[in-house]
Amino acid sequence: MKVIVNDERCKQCGICAVNCPKKAISFSDVINMKGYQPAVVDDALCIGCGICYTMCPDWVFEITGE
Ligand code: SF4
Ligand code: SF4
Repeated sequence: MKVIVNDERCKQCGICAVNCPKKAISFSDVINMKGYQPAVVDDALCIGCGICYTMCPDWVFEITGE
């Protein structure tokens, strides 16, 4: 399982980072088109639990089977 981040949808609310059980989510140094620093997933820490996908109000995350 791998998490894909749709950078341009993120509004940096922090819900995903707070709820990730592995603390795998941080925020980019690069500003997106909305003016926010989008979420970044550390693949080395992520266990593919899907909590970020479930909790994000802006559908930023996709879970793939890869
Ligand atoms: S919950 Fe969604 S919108 Fe909020 S910071 Fe995380 S990815 Fe961005
Ligand atoms: S899938 Fe789970 S472990 Fe991976 S970033 Fe999302 S909440 Fe964290």
